Amino acid sequence: MYQISVKRIEQDLYDLSRFGYNENDQGVYRQGFSEADMQARHWLMEKMQQEGMTARLDGAANVIGRYENDTNRDKPAVMIGSHLDSVPAGGIFDGTLGVMAGLECVRVIRENAIDLSHPIEVVATSEEEGRFGGMLGSQAISGGITPDWLETAYDPSGETLKDAMARWDMDIHDVLHAYRHPDELKAFLELHIEQGPVLEARQIPIGVVDCISGVFKWVIHLRGKASHAGTAPMDMRSDAFMGAADFAHEIPRIIEEDGTDRSRLTIGRIELKPGFPHTIPGEAEFTIVGRDTCAEVMTNLANSCRRVLSAIARRHGLMFEYEEMSWLDPKSCDPDMVELLKSKAEARGYKYLQMPSGAGHDTQFMTDITKAGLIFVPSVGGISHAPDEMTHWVDIEKGANLLLDAVLELAA
Ligand SMILES: [Zn+2]
Repeated sequence: MYQISVKRIEQDLYDLSRFGYNENDQGVYRQGFSEADMQARHWLMEKMQQEGMTARLDGAANVIGRYENDTNRDKPAVMIGSHLDSVPAGGIFDGTLGVMAGLECVRVIRENAIDLSHPIEVVATSEEEGRFGGMLGSQAISGGITPDWLETAYDPSGETLKDAMARWDMDIHDVLHAYRHPDELKAFLELHIEQGPVLEARQIPIGVVDCISGVFKWVIHLRGKASHAGTAPMDMRSDAFMGAADFAHEIPRIIEEDGTDRSRLTIGRIELKPGFPHTIPGEAEFTIVGRDTCAEVMTNLANSCRRVLSAIARRHGLMFEYEEMSWLDPKSCDPDMVELLKSKAEARGYKYLQMPSGAGHDTQFMTDITKAGLIFVPSVGGISHAPDEMTHWVDIEKGANLLLDAVLELAA
């Protein structure tokens, strides 16, 4: 069995973390299309070339390194990778691990002169963290981007995608050229940190992901009547907060009745108006984010939320409105890829857990054009999107070896 070098992956991850590193909070600031992000992309392309690959930046700013020979050039490629951008004050593993592990696989293949029937492509996708509200790179590759969205996408500061790309002499229209026809790809594999507490708590080094949660985001408005908190008797109020609180209290029951153990409902933001201690809140605006790994369950959860909200609104004399900000269906990883990863983990004697992913990943879009698989390694304390993000090197070694074994079989 071939072995990856975790020392080299470690060195690469530290080298890469310099792009966007902030000394004050030790976080990585490498948001999509920032200077640090674009510098990191050019650094990576050079590294790929040193490893005998051709490297290019596609129209969506995905870095694509290709390792091929004269005999396999025309065959569909096995693509490995993840994203290179980070959230503000992110850690050094999220996304980058999958990219650098992909590069390490190519190094091992090259050093050992392993003969492959298919080319390998290592991809570092762009803008996965959703600065502009999507997963630009992998959506572009899988054909999930519309011209209309490109024209209108903007980040929380109000900067448009168009301007952010123009700064690097990139044209939004070229994003559509990043699409890859299913014929060009044999499979896609991603190694990623779990970003949750499950693997560490169960002391299992490998997660084989079978599906990725869908997610919907709603903004709810409950409107009652703002009034003096002293003069309005308790039974003569239309208190919007009481409605919101009643709904929050119903969440466990909604999940019991219409969800599964993979369902999630979260109120992450709430605002009361007028927001004065001596005034009954006349309006409550809050978000509901719902997730599940099954499309039907997700729809049932959403319907149940709507029913409960309207009953609560009636009870408290409130008006109820909701706005759907986004709806992303759950995606299944390819069953053949799940089986391949499980059998390869068994062959190495690695304990693994077949599990869902509660967070979104590039893999979910790649499922649209090819057989896609996703490997998790444990996150210490379940922490990510923070400078404290960490995965033990011994677990990274296992994850990367598993990735290598799967790639070798797919490209053999
Ligand atoms: Zn990520």
